[in-house]
Amino acid sequence: MIHDKLVINLAPTGIVPTKDENPHVPLTPEEIADDCCRCREAGASIVHLHARDSDGAPACRIDIYRDIIRHIRAKCPDLIICVTTSGRRFRSFEERAQSLDLDGELKPDMASLTLGSMNFRNEASINAPDMIERLAEAMHRRGIVPELEAFDLGMIDYARYLIKHDILRKPFYFNLLLGSLGTLSATPAHLASMVDALPPTATWGGAGIGRYQFHVNTMAIAMGGHVRVGLEDSLYMDGGKKRLATNLQLVERVAGVARAIGREVASPAEARRIIGLPEPRGQTPGRA
Ligand code: ZN
Repeated sequence: MIHDKLVINLAPTGIVPTKDENPHVPLTPEEIADDCCRCREAGASIVHLHARDSDGAPACRIDIYRDIIRHIRAKCPDLIICVTTSGRRFRSFEERAQSLDLDGELKPDMASLTLGSMNFRNEASINAPDMIERLAEAMHRRGIVPELEAFDLGMIDYARYLIKHDILRKPFYFNLLLGSLGTLSATPAHLASMVDALPPTATWGGAGIGRYQFHVNTMAIAMGGHVRVGLEDSLYMDGGKKRLATNLQLVERVAGVARAIGREVASPAEARRIIGLPEPRGQTPGRA
């Protein structure tokens, strides 16, 4: 495990960041695609996408996701694409599941699935049991693999319940997100407890919110896990908020840490094998 290549999941945009806070946050489909492809060259193999409208506001519209994915597939077709189904700003199933309907060359490989309801600093993310089940079922029907987001230990227990009831099916790829106000704080003991609780066949990435991004990323790299990194989680390179980050710098930094302790960085094709994702679009679904 510790010798596995590192899968870097880039979260370039998110819901909250604005250009006023950090001019490097990509918002238009072209900006997002350019940034993703630059970061792919530096080692990102998955991109976790949020759409924004022409004013930069969070959007769930399928046409915007279509544009983003079309640009990415044209420039760097092998990237693993994950779309959000976040319940933070959009509450109905129809809004949250829109981007799952993209088909053919534009079908996303993965989609986020948050495993419970919780608070962020200023708002709640509501994920009721029936919503989680409907989203999981919609993903399964379309051959889209969930990116299982856990912000608390209990969310992993809930994932195990969903697995037992055949609502979640292999492969299991977890994002463990620590350090957000209102959920589990970013300590080594907390991360170790979450990893211990995972189903045996799961792969996982560690993400830290705000000033904890780099800490959780480095812990995950040392533990043999993978990482999610990007401006969605932190706008700065440093905890003192003095140096604005770019997505490329954040990816280069975690890739450098991995290489320093003897882990190479996975290509998108290698990341597919590590996670157990089906072969790219149009080919036979692979091992589960
Ligand atoms: Zn997200």
